[in-house]
Amino acid sequence: MNLLDKSESIKNHEITALNNLESFLKIIKKKNPHINAFLEIKEEEAVNKAQEIDSKIKKGEKVGKLAGLTVGIKSNINIEDFIISAASKTLENYIGSYNATVIDRIKNEDGLILGTTNMDEFAAGSSTETSYFGPTDNPAAPGRIPGGSSGGSAAAIAAEMCDLSLGSDTGGSIRNPASHCGVMGFKSTYGLVSRQGLLDLAMSLEQIGPFAHDAGGIALMLDSIAGYDPRECTTIKETPNFDGITQKSQDAMKGMKLGVVKEFFDVSDERIVNIIEDKIDKMTEMGAEVVELSFKYLDLCIPTYYLINYVEFFSATRKYDGRKYGYRIEEVCGDEVLRRIHIGSYISQKEYSGKYYKKALQARSLIRREITGLLDGVDAIISPTVPKLPHKLGEALDPMDMYAYDVLTVIANLAGIPAGSMKAGEVNGIPVGIQIQGKPLDDVKIIRMMAGIDEIE
Ligand code: GLN
Repeated sequence: MNLLDKSESIKNHEITALNNLESFLKIIKKKNPHINAFLEIKEEEAVNKAQEIDSKIKKGEKVGKLAGLTVGIKSNINIEDFIISAASKTLENYIGSYNATVIDRIKNEDGLILGTTNMDEFAAGSSTETSYFGPTDNPAAPGRIPGGSSGGSAAAIAAEMCDLSLGSDTGGSIRNPASHCGVMGFKSTYGLVSRQGLLDLAMSLEQIGPFAHDAGGIALMLDSIAGYDPRECTTIKETPNFDGITQKSQDAMKGMKLGVVKEFFDVSDERIVNIIEDKIDKMTEMGAEVVELSFKYLDLCIPTYYLINYVEFFSATRKYDGRKYGYRIEEVCGDEVLRRIHIGSYISQKEYSGKYYKKALQARSLIRREITGLLDGVDAIISPTVPKLPHKLGEALDPMDMYAYDVLTVIANLAGIPAGSMKAGEVNGIPVGIQIQGKPLDDVKIIRMMAGIDEIE
């Protein structure tokens, strides 16, 4: 059953919120010990809330958009009374003292917050292997990485442990694990979803966003969490209306101009390219038209993204000095976090910032101008989400090979544009994701197209 139908069934009391919750709790108990998608679950609170929702529905009282649906939250988003560790030792004992704006909004819409999900330490990674609490397995391709950094949130959806989940995406951390786990994930236009209460990796690049099995679920979650937040200065005033946008999805491709960027395919594994090209053919059969494009600066994307990430992350970690929050980060963190702090500290110094950071900001403008220029002539740009297949858990990768996973996802963050990923096919049973990127504030159009792609076959 798709998520919007399920939501209606709960509101009509055909399924109770409690039954829905209990069936997920059963799966979590069975699967979580080996998948390690959830870090902490608060069963009793979720059960109480489910009962409260059921009794409201019975009495005919109005309930929220997410009534009775279960939600997993990446452990870098503040939830009162949960351990918000960002999968680090630094914050292993830090208890959220308030709710992030997105959490308040989910609660206002009667969503059932189940617990926190696993991730790369401080969201710095693409595999969820750097979590202080151990890696997450990929439910769709056991023994392989689920992608990252929001690997727990993607795996929780893939393993049917919850209806919806939230991740954060700084350079692909929603879309990359969505791709590897074969689920949908969406990063909105920068500023559409409040980051208030998020433990930032790199604030100028980052958005909180949803994972779901279908586009209706993505739209429903965004409808609940997106929108201006007076407490968060980067949120924008205009909020698109996400309600009902996935209806009539058979027509979603009609008249759509799809940009296909040659360089995005040149860097990708041939088996992935074949799957994406096949999907694009099917999209044209549904009435879309292909426009061939070329992107000049692909080589600049990874260095530009990581230089900016290091500097912003270094600055964000200065509060973890062991006085107010947890341990002093440098004393307890893993290799990748330490690398970012050291390089970030070095290139933040006055004498080097001109050489590296300022250059990176200039390159960022170039990349933004190039991609928005290409988007001017089309409705969306279609490509693989990730250029290579997920490696086996525990396989040692050097940092540049790990960063190479991100080459097709960082552009959307550097430019602040909306982008989603969904399953396009499989290579030897391993899911492959297709990425759809659009113009700023074209989020609704992209999600409608995702619903359209989901109609194929
Ligand atoms: N893999 C990228 C990085 O390590 C993206 C992380 C993210 O989006 N949070 O920075």
